[in-house]
Amino acid sequence: MRQQLNFFESQRTTFNEQLELTIQSLKAYGEKYDHWVIAWSGGKDSTALVTLVVYLIESGQIPAPKKLTVLFADTRMEIPPLFFSAQGIMKQLRERGIRVETVMAPMDDRFFVYMMGRGVPPPSNTFRWCTPKIKVEPMMARLREMHQQTGKKFLLLTGVRQGESAKRDGRIAMSCGKDGAECGQGWYQVSASDDICDKLAPLLHWRVCSVWDWLSLFAPMERHGSWKTALLADVYGGEEAEEINARTGCIGCPLASKDKGLMVVIKIAEYNYLAPLMELKKLYRELKKPRWRKRKTEWQYKSDGSLSKNQNRMGPLTMEARKMALYTILKIQQRVNLQAKAENKPRIDIINIHEVIRINELIAKNTWPRGWTGKEEKGDFPFIQRFNDGNVQSDLFIKPSEISI
Ligand code: SF4
Repeated sequence: MRQQLNFFESQRTTFNEQLELTIQSLKAYGEKYDHWVIAWSGGKDSTALVTLVVYLIESGQIPAPKKLTVLFADTRMEIPPLFFSAQGIMKQLRERGIRVETVMAPMDDRFFVYMMGRGVPPPSNTFRWCTPKIKVEPMMARLREMHQQTGKKFLLLTGVRQGESAKRDGRIAMSCGKDGAECGQGWYQVSASDDICDKLAPLLHWRVCSVWDWLSLFAPMERHGSWKTALLADVYGGEEAEEINARTGCIGCPLASKDKGLMVVIKIAEYNYLAPLMELKKLYRELKKPRWRKRKTEWQYKSDGSLSKNQNRMGPLTMEARKMALYTILKIQQRVNLQAKAENKPRIDIINIHEVIRINELIAKNTWPRGWTGKEEKGDFPFIQRFNDGNVQSDLFIKPSEISI
């Protein structure tokens, strides 16, 4: 059973040591920059960072920079209560006079538009297009613009954590599964160019339990800023959060084995109406199947003329798959919102009318990912197995004369 946390006793040293290191790092590096920028996704690590930095400035424990900007990365895919929580914190930040900007991917790069409009299959561990498209690239574009406006380097603060036991080998973990870390934060750390900013991860050494303690216990206290962070901790399991160690990410993240965050959320009576969103993960799994995909069935070559390793690879979603997926997602959203109306709860907006129009436009224009034309066979169509050493394994039911090699 988890030991009761007491700010003043046994755990104090650990938490305070971590806090002290954070203060020291912000003091040591912060004073060299007029402008600090915080990359905030609305997830637990970066929310802890935003609220802690503002608290430390307001309480005089670190000097205030001349300018502070918070960049909120809106992926449109966050679990709704996390988004609602971010909205509340954003209001608190603005009431304090802090500049908060929302950063979002351009229309064609948004998760559903990229998938159903262009036909790119749901992301996977071997083809993780989502993090760059919906999180990293929009943030990098805004950071470059900010640098162009002043021509001066700024300090980028990220919520990257490695935990106490992490090896200090200079390599920043980019995985979204490690120690419940927040997807995207590590990428911000490595992708932001050193020419425009220097980067600091003030919570690098924080353990996940300290993040939860800050969000659920300390940050909501008046003397620490009365932050509305308890909701964030609650939706990730409240008292159980440390054990669940849920990763902060998108609804139905296809890279996670289970939709742990959403599973916790829908057990809370207040958010039970979001239960149909659990079907998104099933939809992504379905879309990976050959019947919804195109396949290369001719020999594939590399640019130097040698045979590619990736013979017979499956590729984009067929037009039928995209239409089926769009219909399914709209139905899921409609079911949630009908229930929201009946229960007088906040509606969700994971896909909006502009995105639907753009998806339909791209489908009408017969849009395919680079290297595909749509004329390829369907993934479940019988095909001749080709190997990158030039051999083929023919089908017993196809006459050799019919095989094109
Ligand atoms: S949480 Fe999952 S779906 Fe979202 S950007 Fe990260 S890896 Fe992609």
